Amino acid sequence: MAVSSTADRGRQGNFEDNVNAYFSHAATFCKRAPGLLEQIRVCNSVYAFSFPVRHADGSIEVVHAWRAEHSHHKLPTKGGIRYSPQVDESEVKALAALMTYKCALVDVPFGGAKGAVQIDPARYTVEQLERITRRYTHELDRKQFIGPGIDVPAPDYGTGEREMSWIADTYSQLHTGELEALACVTGKPVTEGGIYGRREATGRGLMFALAEACRSADDMRALGLSTGLEGKRLVVQGLGNVGYHAAKFCREQGAIIVALAEREGAIHNPKGLNEDEVFNFRKRTGSLLGFPGATDILRSADALELECDVLVPAALENVLTSENAARIKARIILEGANGPTTPEADAVFRKKSIMVIPDVFANAGGVTVSYFEWLKNLSHVRLGRMDRRRQAATELRMLQAIEVATGKPFTEAERQKFVKVTDELAIVNSGLEDTMIVAYQDIREALRTEPKMGDLRTAAFKRAIDKVAVVYEELGIFP
Ligand code: NAD
Repeated sequence: MAVSSTADRGRQGNFEDNVNAYFSHAATFCKRAPGLLEQIRVCNSVYAFSFPVRHADGSIEVVHAWRAEHSHHKLPTKGGIRYSPQVDESEVKALAALMTYKCALVDVPFGGAKGAVQIDPARYTVEQLERITRRYTHELDRKQFIGPGIDVPAPDYGTGEREMSWIADTYSQLHTGELEALACVTGKPVTEGGIYGRREATGRGLMFALAEACRSADDMRALGLSTGLEGKRLVVQGLGNVGYHAAKFCREQGAIIVALAEREGAIHNPKGLNEDEVFNFRKRTGSLLGFPGATDILRSADALELECDVLVPAALENVLTSENAARIKARIILEGANGPTTPEADAVFRKKSIMVIPDVFANAGGVTVSYFEWLKNLSHVRLGRMDRRRQAATELRMLQAIEVATGKPFTEAERQKFVKVTDELAIVNSGLEDTMIVAYQDIREALRTEPKMGDLRTAAFKRAIDKVAVVYEELGIFP
């Protein structure tokens, strides 16, 4: 299996070391005092705790959990909650650090954080998962590790809207009358204060990131590829929230999904796969193997080495390592997961001139739309509610003025195209697209200015470090 088992970690160095290695390399391009760089790198606080869970037979199991707040240079801190049997404190710290750099890159005014419970959700009933989630929230609350202005969790591997809803409810129960209580967590269902577009935001953001990278004729020529997403052959690992939506939005823009990889194996069809059909087939049969018209790949990780243009690892960390890097045939690696590439593999990709669009930027769509959700919760109003009709009326008046000036009326179809009552989803997607484009150009420009950095990841880390450094310098040191 390609997941980061303990054995893998031993071989490839641990995830936290990998993030620190990327940081240290980029820091050599930042003209900052060593002490300041160290303050940016270290994790500010970690809360580690354990609590019991009762099973149906009366037995008691102790589960371990964490919340790491990597940087308090901006508050609240922000980051997902992971439910995984393999997770440990070091992994949580690595993920929290990535959140700090990610938020800085996309100008989301939060420090980085991450949380985890060391469980395999598949082994528990829904009722047990609810109790675990509520107890976890209560523990965070007791130590002031959650709150709209303190630390705001979100979904990550193994959690989703359901868990976020339980967190919001638990926090609200503990803070009766707190007007902004719903802003204590993002990624909630829309009916519980969530925002349209959050569920699919990370995958949509990945598509925007790839589209922007593929817009540059020079960069694509250097990779031997044409511009645009049309016809690009993608291999996607992980058919969860991030992988499914990345596949969907890229396919809708004309890309061809030639392979999909999950825990049990992978399937390959050079003519293209529809992620929705595969998802439903897997739900029905319990496996994606045997999907009509596709070839089965029994060792899931082998799919990473297939002939393709873009490889999208969207499951877990440490899947592209020194062991398989030389056999990767993709020309672009779009990191949906956090930490899928080890520094050893990264060096191989640099040598092979493979473009790596790094996690720290590529999967920032989730936190970007989480930020929009947090703003919505604080303002207590749906985006666009106050002025969307007014805007549509302005557009209509402009159209009518053009009709009078030209003496030519627009057709009904033209009217509908130009005069739109914008809904929340359209506003969210527009903000997300703009964020991803601006951040990509910022990183690309940094690399253009200093080509010695060699790759987009180093440029992204350098930009993030510089942005956090400025804030620390302006803040000074307390006391
Ligand atoms: P998820 O739980 O929804 O999906 C993960 C999928 O990966 C599951 O379907 C799982 O079966 C599959 N998987 C596990 N091991 C695998 C293996 N060895 N090979 C192939 N597939 C495997 O999780 P997610 O939210 O999609 O998160 C995936 C990654 O994206 C994580 O690294 C997470 O940190 C990162 N991420 C998530 C978000 C978000 O908004 N959810 C945002 C940014 C980054």
